[in-house]
Amino acid sequence: MKKILSFVLVLAMLMLGAAFAEDGKVTATGVGQGIEGDVVVQVTADATTLYDVQVLEQNETVGIGSVAVEQLPGAIVAANSIAVDGIASATVTSDAIKTAVEQALVSAGIDPAPFKVKPEAAAGERTPETLACDVLVVGAGGAGLTAAVRAKQEGATVLVLEKMPMVGGNSVKASGGMNCAGTKFQEAAGITDSGVREFVEDTMNGGHYLNDLGLVATMAINSSDAVDWLDSIGAPLPKVAATGGTVHKYLHSPEDGSPVGRYLVEKLSQEAERQGIEILLNTKATEILMADGAAVGVKAESAEHDYTINAKAVILATGGFGANFELMCSFNPSLRNAVTTNTPAATGDGILMAEAIGAATVDMEKIQLHPTVYQETSMLVSEKMRSLGSILVNQEGKRFCNDLSTRDAVSAAELEQTGGYAYIVFDQNLVDNNKSAKEYIAQGMATQADTYEELAKAIGVDEATFAETMATWNAAVAAGEDAEFGRNNGMDADLSTAPYYAIKIAPGIHHTMGGIKIDTGTEVLSTDGSVIPGLFAAGETTGGVHGGNRIGGNAVCDFVVFGRIAGANAAAYALAQDVAPAA
Ligand code: ADP
Repeated sequence: MKKILSFVLVLAMLMLGAAFAEDGKVTATGVGQGIEGDVVVQVTADATTLYDVQVLEQNETVGIGSVAVEQLPGAIVAANSIAVDGIASATVTSDAIKTAVEQALVSAGIDPAPFKVKPEAAAGERTPETLACDVLVVGAGGAGLTAAVRAKQEGATVLVLEKMPMVGGNSVKASGGMNCAGTKFQEAAGITDSGVREFVEDTMNGGHYLNDLGLVATMAINSSDAVDWLDSIGAPLPKVAATGGTVHKYLHSPEDGSPVGRYLVEKLSQEAERQGIEILLNTKATEILMADGAAVGVKAESAEHDYTINAKAVILATGGFGANFELMCSFNPSLRNAVTTNTPAATGDGILMAEAIGAATVDMEKIQLHPTVYQETSMLVSEKMRSLGSILVNQEGKRFCNDLSTRDAVSAAELEQTGGYAYIVFDQNLVDNNKSAKEYIAQGMATQADTYEELAKAIGVDEATFAETMATWNAAVAAGEDAEFGRNNGMDADLSTAPYYAIKIAPGIHHTMGGIKIDTGTEVLSTDGSVIPGLFAAGETTGGVHGGNRIGGNAVCDFVVFGRIAGANAAAYALAQDVAPAA
């Protein structure tokens, strides 16, 4: 009877495509649905072990699905589990292989349940993974997200690596706005004196004429298109105001007054998601892969994997190095004890990786201090607070400079005051018109009082001197002239609406102006001045745009304009690789 039963079972399995191998192992086939049709897999297993998995038939996309075909069978056998991670950029093919393996097990009369348990990753042990794409973007801050969306719009397959568990980088902290010239929003507001020429002049002047003029002009000329493009992906910036260091009105921000960085990162992420762009979080690029002098991918690591990522073009969008004290102090040792407004991720990885393959850097020693940083939490108090009318007052209760001069000038003036700090003072009218101000108050950063004297007393400043300073300032606003320090913007409203507020601030490390040397097409240049084929860079990881000092609102313009250029040019470079050379 037993013999008859096993004969029937063997017959049934043979009919289902299974065949006995030696030692009680069974070999069977299964089928899954890939992108380009059936994926047929052959499995050899017994009840407890997967011995062999082979893809017999498939027609998946070369460089994407084919990577899963190469990688996944081995990973399944090594893990003795179907529940391994799929190949990130080839999920359909990965799922097809897993389905086919499961079906083959069923055909073999083996219960697949034990093989569907996720293998526990051994601590510290990473498995190798190989991925492929047209354009690989390293870093998912403002520049990286912009470049990724743009490259995808041009028809490239795009993969983004982000070493942090979230996107946004330093960009998400940008609170002011985006400087742009010649925009439809300026036109609508009747602003005619703040065009491309003035933008270039102000940026060069703010950067002490140490900027790369070609990059500055490229940024300014493309800024209006960049604003239109943001509008086209659902991120309009219709409000226009003046920024620090200039009387011109370039600073574009969201309608509802929300901080520009958070707003743009959210909109760009939504667009990336809508376009199906894959972002591998917690995945850090460690090395640029080169072949015949061209960048062809990166090595990267996550908790689970050692990645080899093959790409036709690589965009470095890894941000600056304002949180890498060792690197900063190698250029300026006096920064050792300064606070930084930067994300801990701003360690200059892209710069170091690029240097390792021969890229040139510029202006590395030019590190910007922002004058209004709340030292207890390193929270930046936006320049916009001064554009809207706030003033800076020292411990003696006096103003001490043109509060809206360039960041380096205001920071230097502050460091000369008693204790090296100051107070930024504002009123209820300003709070009513600015979301950031409300947040600073909610976070307990501000001291509040109903009269000037009470506020002075609360912050330990001479009451009469402070009240006189405020009266003088309100009179200057009324007269439209700051006789004391020649401030000529942010004077549309006085500070006479109680209650009054003061936040104690001092300079903090904010932006690293230097970085990878690029041309106006965002191609990375080598130390001998030649282009490194296949390698592009955009955003704070690059140097040259801001010269000796970045003006407020230009970081956002930098990342949107050059992120777009990098995305488009990297896509074009990558797609050109597909075109066979003429015979
Ligand atoms: P930018 O304004 O130029 O876009 P950000 O600081 O906003 O600069 O963004 C840079 C992003 O790059 C950050 O999210 C940061 O975590 C990420 N990043 C930095 N180094 C690496 C790396 N080695 N691999 C992957 N992502 C990185």
